[in-house]
Amino acid sequence: MLQLRPNCECCGRDLPPDSREALICSFECTFCRPCAEKVLLGRCPNCGGELVRRPIRPAEKLAKYPASSERKVKPEGCRAAG
Ligand SMILES: [Zn+2]
Ligand SMILES: [Zn+2]
Repeated sequence: MLQLRPNCECCGRDLPPDSREALICSFECTFCRPCAEKVLLGRCPNCGGELVRRPIRPAEKLAKYPASSERKVKPEGCRAAG
């Protein structure tokens, strides 16, 4: 099951499960849209993979399959790729 992480790994901004501003890689590293587009240029800084918009889990499913509450933030933040 996809882990819905609660925040951007670069800037720490909250990304609730219904946010359309959340992007993930295939390993579920999670970033906000401004970081993903302007800083990371669409590439995950951890694995080098593609970042795509995280699908919204329907609200009625969240009760049974809740979002992750484990916050991951890079202490050093993210730098522009390249
Ligand atoms: Zn961010
Ligand atoms: Zn990744």
